Amino acid sequence: MAGNGGGAAIGIDLGTTYSCVGVWRQDRVEIIVNDQGRRTTPSYVAFTDTERLIGDGAKNQVAMNPTNTIFDAKRLIGRRFSDESVQSDMRLWPFKVVAGPGDKPMIEVTYKDERKKFAAEEISSMVLLKMREAAEAFLGSTVENAVVTVPAYFNDSQRQATKDAGSIAGLNVMSILNEPTAAAIAYGLEMNVGNDGDKNVLIFDLGGGTFDVSLLTMKQGVFEVKATAGDTHLGGEDFDNRMVDFFAEEFRRKQKKDITGNPRALRRLRTACERAKRNLSSTSQTTIEIDCLYEGIDFSTTISRARFEELNMDLFKMCMGPVETCLADAHMEKSSIHDVVLVGGSTRIPKVQEMLKDFFDGKELCKSINPDEAVAHGAAVQAAILSGNATEKIHDLLLLDVTPLSLGVGVVGGVMSVVIPRNTAIPTKKEGGFTTVADDQTSILFKVYEGERAQITDNNLLGEFRLANIVPAPAGVPKVNLCFEIDRNGILHVLAENKATGQTSRITITNENGRLSKAEIDRMLQEAEKYKAEDEELKKKIEAKNALELYVYKLKSAIKDQNIILKLSLADKRETEDAIEKAIHWLDCHQFAKIDEFEEMKHYLQNIWNPIVTKVYQ
Ligand code: ADP
Ligand code: MG
Repeated sequence: MAGNGGGAAIGIDLGTTYSCVGVWRQDRVEIIVNDQGRRTTPSYVAFTDTERLIGDGAKNQVAMNPTNTIFDAKRLIGRRFSDESVQSDMRLWPFKVVAGPGDKPMIEVTYKDERKKFAAEEISSMVLLKMREAAEAFLGSTVENAVVTVPAYFNDSQRQATKDAGSIAGLNVMSILNEPTAAAIAYGLEMNVGNDGDKNVLIFDLGGGTFDVSLLTMKQGVFEVKATAGDTHLGGEDFDNRMVDFFAEEFRRKQKKDITGNPRALRRLRTACERAKRNLSSTSQTTIEIDCLYEGIDFSTTISRARFEELNMDLFKMCMGPVETCLADAHMEKSSIHDVVLVGGSTRIPKVQEMLKDFFDGKELCKSINPDEAVAHGAAVQAAILSGNATEKIHDLLLLDVTPLSLGVGVVGGVMSVVIPRNTAIPTKKEGGFTTVADDQTSILFKVYEGERAQITDNNLLGEFRLANIVPAPAGVPKVNLCFEIDRNGILHVLAENKATGQTSRITITNENGRLSKAEIDRMLQEAEKYKAEDEELKKKIEAKNALELYVYKLKSAIKDQNIILKLSLADKRETEDAIEKAIHWLDCHQFAKIDEFEEMKHYLQNIWNPIVTKVYQ
């Protein structure tokens, strides 16, 4: 086992909508609460005239500051601006995304009166930083090592970019772990596998923005992912949106006014809808009340669980398709599934549970793991194992992960030649023989793709490299061995070897186009530290301001205290009152003063009050 010099290692579920962090301590996982006392933290970052907010603070002010409040960074990470998904997601976002160098999407905000552009990695790094800080506050020590989870369908570029986000947050990302695998780890612990033989488990993860179905087998504490399926764009936010549309229509009908062009009103309505949706998982009817939603008009209404279900029924039904695909990919009947596990906040919706239960012919679903925390729980276990902090309970846990998409190269006719099929357990190494297609060809250009389609044009180009110096020979004679290797983080290395000469050429798929360079990461890391220092400076400033305000209130109440007033000379009372008046006026005009100015003002008051109070208690 690796040494544990870095201290505790944490597991972070970096979610599209909510993130969660856990740590292995005293033989169990502890899910760490944030500074608001919550066990999950919105993956939100906001920029204002004066400060940067991360998590609950950012989400709470979203209605007031929609264009500078960033969420869904996970939908952008490792993608290109021109990606179809980015283009369609952009239409729903109130913040601005522009094309940066290399077709990299950049998020544009106004921060402290300046236009700034951030890469998705930077925004995610801020969320990771928040999770790291929560862990550090909880553990009372610095935390450097972490396991970060990603959806199973994330491609290489998205995994790399997530790792980069960790680096920018000053974290050493020991491993990038698939979310369903993490959930399975958590589940395995709960169930004490190993004692009762093999199990086939279906993980059904319906979160805020993504849907993942995974089929795993567990054999004596060893997990293997057999198949994965899902929908990159299906989750709780879609249910929220359905409700938003429904109520916007209701508002139009009742008030003859259209709120859909007003981002602030829409945002406030969306927040209320999310809350109502959560309520409807436990009650059959709930109310929505928003003061001054639009043009001073209040909005007050009710919604039943039945209506909510009706609004979303087609989306709920869409959740069943990937379950079938997953079973088919794993060549399994639904009857051979031992356990169906619920993961993700949206699996709390009773209708979703009911439909899944029906699909499995009335089988009881496993809900013993808190669905929002299962992924962080497993990541924390993995972090403990990798950092050497594992206790006996989890020591023997071995993990097998799986490649989400087939990997291969393009061959003659634009056809995809698969080297590593989808759902192969990783780490893995597979080889294939290739040759030239023309006489006297002296080099071969290998284009590496991921995807399931037969034609390379339908798949995703990951990168290309050339094997040169092939000795001229008739087509088909030179023998070239192509080796695809995927490491533990799911990162692909491809090596081509000329059998005749032993000469090699290689590529590590880094998606240079979209990926941050080392220099850029270093620059962002420095900036992140600068932002962090600014945040801390602001915190200290607020503390200094609060201390001054507190002192003013203390004085105000002191000179109203009968016991003190009786012993106070009129002149001293007048002097104190004037000083208080002066301080209050100064505070009104100097909201953004410097720390030492607040302190100076407090000293000024103390210098007046201390001699007076000494006289009082003489
Ligand atoms: P992520 O996809 O970010 O990992 P989570 O698994 O934390 O998300 O799930 C977040 C989603 O779960 C949000 O859309 C949230 O509204 C939804 N959610 C949380 N609690 C409930 C609940 N009680 N009923 C219905 N939906 C819920
Ligand atoms: Mg999740």
